[in-house]
Amino acid sequence: MNKELIRVEDLRKYFSIKMGFMKYNYVQAVEDANFSIRKGETLGLVGESGCGKTTLGRTILRLHEPTSGKIFYDGEDITHVKMLPYRRKMQIIFQDPSASLDPRMTVGEIVGEAIDIHKLAGSKKERTERIQQLLTQVGLNSEHSNRYPHEFSGGQQQRIGIARALAVEPEFIVCDEPVSALDVSIQSQIVNMLEDMQKDMGLTYLFIAHDLSVVRHISNRIGVMYLGNMVELAESNELHKNPLHPYTKTLMSAVPVPDPAKSRARKRIILEGDIPSPMNPPSGCRFHTRCPYAIPRCKEEVPVWRELATDHFAACHIL
Ligand code: SF4
Repeated sequence: MNKELIRVEDLRKYFSIKMGFMKYNYVQAVEDANFSIRKGETLGLVGESGCGKTTLGRTILRLHEPTSGKIFYDGEDITHVKMLPYRRKMQIIFQDPSASLDPRMTVGEIVGEAIDIHKLAGSKKERTERIQQLLTQVGLNSEHSNRYPHEFSGGQQQRIGIARALAVEPEFIVCDEPVSALDVSIQSQIVNMLEDMQKDMGLTYLFIAHDLSVVRHISNRIGVMYLGNMVELAESNELHKNPLHPYTKTLMSAVPVPDPAKSRARKRIILEGDIPSPMNPPSGCRFHTRCPYAIPRCKEEVPVWRELATDHFAACHIL
């Protein structure tokens, strides 16, 4: 699992917002991201809502065009290439399955559409068999292919979304909060299914979530984002045992611990204030307005992203 499938270098995504006549402002959604995702691994991405995780995932897929920086896929620079050949290899599973499925299409048409675009079936019979096989693979049955999305539960709709992503036999999938909109009882079924699929097909995932416990369960490594910046990245157990960045420590302190004695002994870190606007982010370290350890330098200088231990990266002046 050491070969890189995805690499991003200084990747940045800003959105321009019209503020009035000839006046624009910029939302700094992703700033200077530098990391890689290895073949066959799951890289978890966590952070509060609006921290840029979804934008980062979509920019890697070129569903958003990057403002600057580079994206590599299996060693190829794909920052400016035509994406159709890569669309087959790089897929996405969306957060809200009901919104991501066209209500006017049957399940068979939804799953079959991707097969048609990429010409993956030689005949109508082969196409039908492939759709049925995909539905079975995600725990639905072949009769479901003539039904419409509204006839299914949220968990089943997400299974349809997964079948659609699998239809093109991808190598890399951005799982964009795939279980956040589902009942807790269904969440583990979907996560387990994603894990089984990964083992069977050698898939590579970028798994985006705001719930650290879900991310820990599925991820080999975890990246933590705050206000458009990745602040820490480490192997999953290492990050849980030894979080270094003050923001990661805050997130970790909020994760429920099953052992009541350990839970009582642990001190929850509460952050002061709200997350600042990405249209007008704080100077220096973006976290300085809320960081309990901030020093004067934090307001002036952007901390450098460094490897502080083997495969453990963070950006903070006091580390
Ligand atoms: Fe806190 Fe300063 Fe580190 Fe930022 S650089 S996390 S403000 S100590």
